[in-house]
Amino acid sequence: MKFREKLYRFMQGRNGVDELSKFLSRVSFGVLILAIVFSILTVGFASRASAAAYVFRVLYFVFYAVGIGLLVWCNFRMFSRNVAKRQKENTRYLYRRQKVRRFFENKKQAWKDRKTYRYFKCPRCGQRMRAPRGKGKIRVTCSKCTNIFITKT
Ligand SMILES: [Zn+2]
Repeated sequence: MKFREKLYRFMQGRNGVDELSKFLSRVSFGVLILAIVFSILTVGFASRASAAAYVFRVLYFVFYAVGIGLLVWCNFRMFSRNVAKRQKENTRYLYRRQKVRRFFENKKQAWKDRKTYRYFKCPRCGQRMRAPRGKGKIRVTCSKCTNIFITKT
């Protein structure tokens, strides 16, 4: 049997690569790179026996442990046979990622039209809203909690 076939058989019924696993492998890669940087710094500061060398050594161990932990987690997820549970985790991850992306898109949009719109939050529920600038004081009804308040534009 060829290697590809063997691999295919081995992966049957297993979760395989999904977006969460990709994310975990990327983060673990970044964390392990930082661990290498800290290990180099540890060596660099070692002769001085300073507090810095100690701090870098601790950081090295912490980042190394976290990086390996994420890598193990990533592999566990790929080879897991509990596909339903892994898919649920992946869906939750995608939902959170979407929320984070939307947050930054909103910030970007607010920065873009900062000259034409004023952004503010509902004082009761925190709902974000915007109004065209230069209209003076306006009375706002919150679209989420129907709270009425006055704000400057
Ligand atoms: Zn509100």
